[in-house]
Amino acid sequence: MINKIKKNIQSELNDVVFVSSDKFYWAPELKTIYYDKKSSGNKADLALLHEIGHAKLNHKSYSSDFNLIQMEVDAWEEAKNIARKIGIKIDINHIEDCLDSYRDWIAKRSECPTCGIRNLQLSSLKGYSCYNCHSKWKVTPSRFCRPYRTTV
Ligand SMILES: [Zn+2]
Ligand SMILES: [Zn+2]
Repeated sequence: MINKIKKNIQSELNDVVFVSSDKFYWAPELKTIYYDKKSSGNKADLALLHEIGHAKLNHKSYSSDFNLIQMEVDAWEEAKNIARKIGIKIDINHIEDCLDSYRDWIAKRSECPTCGIRNLQLSSLKGYSCYNCHSKWKVTPSRFCRPYRTTV
C-alpha cells in the first residue's frame, strides 16, 4: 500500500522525496518523508499518511508544546482527508491512541522533577521553571511523531 500512497500523492507534494528508513518521520529541512520499509498494514499506511500530512501542511518547527499537539492534530486531519481520497481505512481509535500518547508525553515533560507539580511551559528553548519550588529543567528537543516518552 505504501507504493500506492506514494504514487497517488507525489504530484501534490512537489519536491518532497520519500526515503526508506526504519521509522516514519518528516524532516522539514530536507523535505524528506522517511518511512519504515519493513512495516505494512493499515497502521503503516496511516503512519505514512500522517507524515505526508506534516509535509503537505509544511510543518517546520514548533514554538511550544501546545503548538506541537496542534500540529499533530492537524497532520492527522490531513491524513484522514488523503485516506478518504485514496480509499484507505481510517482507524479512529489508532489515531486517538497516537494523540493520547503525545498528550501523556507532554504532560510528563511539564512535571517538575523536584516537587512533581505540573507546570506550563514558557518556551521550548528555555525549558521549564517550576512556579512552586523554582527548579529549572530542560526538555529534549522533540521530533515529530516521537512514539515514546523520554525521561528528562
Ligand atoms: Zn517544583
Ligand atoms: Zn506527527
